[in-house]
Amino acid sequence: MIQLIDSYNRHINYLRMSITDRCNLRCIYCMPKEGISLIGHDDILRYEELLRIAGIAVKKGITKIRLTGGEPLVRKGVVQFIAALAAMDGIKDLSMTTNGLLLAPAAQRLRNAGLKRLNISLDSLNPDKYTMITRGGDIKQIIAGIKSAQEAGFAPIKINVVVIRGVNDDEITAFARLSMEKNLQIRFIEYMPVGRENGWEQERFVSTGEIMQKVKTIGPLIELPSDNGSGPAQMYSIDGAQGKIGFISALSDHFCGTCNRLRLTPDGKLRTCLFSDAEVDLKSTIREGCNDDMLSDIINTAILSKPQKHHATEQVFKKCIRGMSAIGG
Ligand code: SAM
Repeated sequence: MIQLIDSYNRHINYLRMSITDRCNLRCIYCMPKEGISLIGHDDILRYEELLRIAGIAVKKGITKIRLTGGEPLVRKGVVQFIAALAAMDGIKDLSMTTNGLLLAPAAQRLRNAGLKRLNISLDSLNPDKYTMITRGGDIKQIIAGIKSAQEAGFAPIKINVVVIRGVNDDEITAFARLSMEKNLQIRFIEYMPVGRENGWEQERFVSTGEIMQKVKTIGPLIELPSDNGSGPAQMYSIDGAQGKIGFISALSDHFCGTCNRLRLTPDGKLRTCLFSDAEVDLKSTIREGCNDDMLSDIINTAILSKPQKHHATEQVFKKCIRGMSAIGG
């Protein structure tokens, strides 16, 4: 089996492809209320370019692909794109991160196309607060999206919750209870300083340790072995629960030593670390007419430059320039 190994002996097998920087929400932790300046349509990778990169990456040893954005479901043709990816030999896991707004009418088609797993962002269970955090989202649409996804056979569905002090940290126990009642995997994510205009301040940051203490007030946490789909999340469940709870501690306990990821931005830049602004421009190389061997060599060089660890927590928390919606969370 072909394996991609970086300079620190990490096995790179996971590609996150952001297929658009467009989003139908403006979450307060992700972008400013006026939105971000968007990448020009001609500069967004076309589906055939995305498939070419994915095909080369899979031949090199990538086995997991996640589609993200922006909001991946706003891009026209995404279902056909998923079907083309799913037909590639070598992809064992094909998933998507979505805000769920457009999910209800699309869930069955996504499933039929070959999408295997879904992560849905839901940062509050309170309708008004949800609208405030997303700057306009209607929680009813997300709930309908989750229901349709369950009916379409997606299981378990992961719910991403970015915890922000003074915003939704009072809902940690409510989310934990939800994991008891429903077969959902609630993933508490530490608020990260990604992009310059995402409102991140040290005072807003809530560590996994603190989140866990709150969860434990409703019942003891049982540690679970991490499975193939849990990624960097430390997995637990509360005794008797139908679902699980994951903690993603990107800052308080960074998991760089086991990082297996590459990220492709919507404008075709390959990033080897979420927090590093170092990027390799695959789009220009493709559009200049390079052949697959050249593209493959460029990907190799990028992988060998993957940093040993991120520097977001050194001395002062350091923000990277590109925002999450333009990288792909
Ligand atoms: N639109 C989709 C969505 O809302 O899930 C996909 C893109 S979004 C950028 C991907 C993930 O990044 C979401 O789960 C979101 O919560 C997370 N995210 C965005 N900004 C973040 C931040 N500053 N800290 C932690 N997670 C963040």
